[in-house]
Amino acid sequence: MPTPGLHGYTEPWREPEHDDLAEMARTFFLKDVLPHTARLEAQGHPDREHYRRAGELGLLGLSVPEAYGGGGGDFTHEAALLHEQTMAGEGSLGLAVHSGIVTGYLVTFGTEEQKQRWLPGLCSGALVGAIAMTEPDGGSDVQAIRTRAVRDGDDYLVSGAKTFITNGHMADLVVLAVKTDQSAKARGISLLVAETTTETGGFRRGRTLDKIGLHANDTAELFFDDFRVPAANLLGTEGAGFVQLMQKLPQERLVIGVGAVAAMQRAVELATAYAKDRKAFGKVLLDHQNTRMVLAECATRTRVSRVFLDDCIARHVRGELDVATAAMAKLYLTEGQCEVVDRCLQIFGGYGYTTDYPIARMYADARVQKIYGGTNEIMKELIARAL
Ligand SMILES: Cc1cc2nc3c(=O)[nH]c(=O)nc-3n(C[C@H](O)[C@H](O)[C@H](O)COP(=O)(O)OP(=O)(O)OC[C@H]3O[C@@H](n4cnc5c(N)ncnc54)[C@H](O)[C@@H]3O)c2cc1C
Repeated sequence: MPTPGLHGYTEPWREPEHDDLAEMARTFFLKDVLPHTARLEAQGHPDREHYRRAGELGLLGLSVPEAYGGGGGDFTHEAALLHEQTMAGEGSLGLAVHSGIVTGYLVTFGTEEQKQRWLPGLCSGALVGAIAMTEPDGGSDVQAIRTRAVRDGDDYLVSGAKTFITNGHMADLVVLAVKTDQSAKARGISLLVAETTTETGGFRRGRTLDKIGLHANDTAELFFDDFRVPAANLLGTEGAGFVQLMQKLPQERLVIGVGAVAAMQRAVELATAYAKDRKAFGKVLLDHQNTRMVLAECATRTRVSRVFLDDCIARHVRGELDVATAAMAKLYLTEGQCEVVDRCLQIFGGYGYTTDYPIARMYADARVQKIYGGTNEIMKELIARAL
């Protein structure tokens, strides 16, 4: 059943293989993961077994070349997977970061040896990936990061703290933004791949943060104190980190946009179904004019968002998605998500405020979309700079 308001619309990039992938993903989320939601929320992180199962099914690293154990696809395949995860209401697995972001850094910037070493594990689910930019003193001003990496023979000694790291409790590999030159701003930043399972000491995971939503996904603090990272784990060259981040952040923002539009679609579906069933004043909610108007507006916003997102996805696959357009997508789609989910929740009345109803979780989960991946205020800055 297509989402109300999306009848007759198909993503221009969609091929039959995306339908097969979507069906397999849907079955995995609904049958393998969702039955465990209450337990996963209580433990505050996903099950490693679920990463492994996703790997077995070929759902991890869809855009990674087959030579490294991936699916050999492109960003449209990642988008189809992430869409299904949100539509299913599955929020434990940090796939948006693991596959949608981390593997991309390794594919683009990794040496042949680095790719051979890490990508197969990320694609099989044996390894979980994270990316760590944000520090306790600030996330928006990436140039001001303070975690330092000092060369010591064949290693770097890394010291500093990162916070709000998605998959931080589980991660075996962390793409870590560090300062290799303390005296420089952007040009002092480098990317290291920290292997957190090495037993060299100097690495500690802090608290898994207690959030208002996304309870089953781990967001954690990471601490480094003269933690040894082999110099061979440098991604690209010293001092290239800021440029690498700027090159990859548009994809991260698109990943967020994919989740935003899927959430809008799901909210409209849920609220429409509820409005067709629930009665007030002797008739179903959908027969009350206000409910009809609200749902018509939400369906329209969702459809327009879908078309814009698909244009951005197509541009990204062609290698033409610019920073400002990606920022527009992140800004517009996440603002739309928060508005649509809020208005759809209202249709549920009191039930919408109880966690028995998925719309309540969607409301809590939506809020962070305007914050991470660069706040929406920073998105406006990026857009304004291009005017
Ligand atoms: C659930 C969750 C998951 C996350 N996952 C990750 C992750 O995996 N990896 C990672 O590195 N980070 C992650 N983050 C961190 C996230 O990216 C940062 O929280 C975000 O970039 C903002 O940084 P900050 O919290 O330090 O806010 P600050 O930078 O302190 O900003 C505070 C406020 O000031 C505003 N502001 C700042 N500068 C300006 C300006 N120039 N103009 C106008 N307004 C401005 C901001 O928009 C914001 O409203 C995550 C955060 C959360 C909550």
